[in-house]
Amino acid sequence: MKAAVIEKPGVVVVKEVPKPKLENDYELIVKVHKAAICRHPDYELWQGIRPPAKDCWEPADYPFILGHEFSGEIVEMGSKVNEIYPDLKVGDRICEWSWCNGFAEYVKIDVRKIATIAPLPDNVSDEEGAVLELAGGSTIFFTWATVRPLDKVLVLGSGPAGLSIIQHAKNFGAEVVVTTDLYDNRLKVARKIGADAAYNASEYDPDELGRLIKKEFGEMDVVIDTAGASKAVFTGTEALKPGGSFYIFAHVSESVAVPYFRVATKVRHFGPPMQWPDPDRLRKLMRLAVRWVSEGKLDIKSWITHHFPLDDIEKALKFNWERPQECIKVVIDIA
Ligand SMILES: [Zn+2]
Repeated sequence: MKAAVIEKPGVVVVKEVPKPKLENDYELIVKVHKAAICRHPDYELWQGIRPPAKDCWEPADYPFILGHEFSGEIVEMGSKVNEIYPDLKVGDRICEWSWCNGFAEYVKIDVRKIATIAPLPDNVSDEEGAVLELAGGSTIFFTWATVRPLDKVLVLGSGPAGLSIIQHAKNFGAEVVVTTDLYDNRLKVARKIGADAAYNASEYDPDELGRLIKKEFGEMDVVIDTAGASKAVFTGTEALKPGGSFYIFAHVSESVAVPYFRVATKVRHFGPPMQWPDPDRLRKLMRLAVRWVSEGKLDIKSWITHHFPLDDIEKALKFNWERPQECIKVVIDIA
């Protein structure tokens, strides 16, 4: 089968590799239909900034197959898969959150290691299935981040994570949802999917933008950071009410400077998850995200801006990294 293999840091090639075979009763094999590029993690894995990973983010050696966002069809299934996922069967179309080795024609998954496989209903397409990864991840995120009815919410960053969180906050009854980003293409989609205001942060001093948001909408009850950038943290903590919560949902490797005194004196909660749902709840949360997409409560189609064939993976990775002003989510067409 064909797969996108990282041979060494910075070198990705599409080549023939052995098709995976079932080796235990808890495994299944998925024929991948569509996959999606995850901006920071896939770039960092490609460039060797992150160490190689396989299966469910287990440490691996070079060469390894890139990709952890995909959808496809179950073509083989071990006899004990149904002990963990009672309803899965051969022929089901599925999406998943965070299983690696997805830029390939077939992927083998051990269902004991991943709780976020979900079947796709007929009205959710393969390409939506590929980008459901972040919609699922952000649904899981809301098991510890709290947005209450009538809250004012600032979402820093309008990439796929921000664009899901804006919609979740609206669905949970937030009175106002404001967002920021550096790129107008993302801000445009943010407005389309329901943000009340979307500011281009590159046009403002970070604290000035925080004060402007307060002036226009009042102090924010909750800030959710999907940007992972120092300037965004300054804007967010400035706009936040005293005693408000600042939740981190960005996955960047580089250091981020934080206005320490402001965080120490003003913010009630500043940080990442305080708890992680158990596998049973994770399975249900992923299915909830799929249901919201199916029912039209979560628009993830609007993020999909480009398609590339698997053979052009290097071009796709480069484009995705270098042209955020043009693309939001890049989908790889595999079958
Ligand atoms: Zn991802």
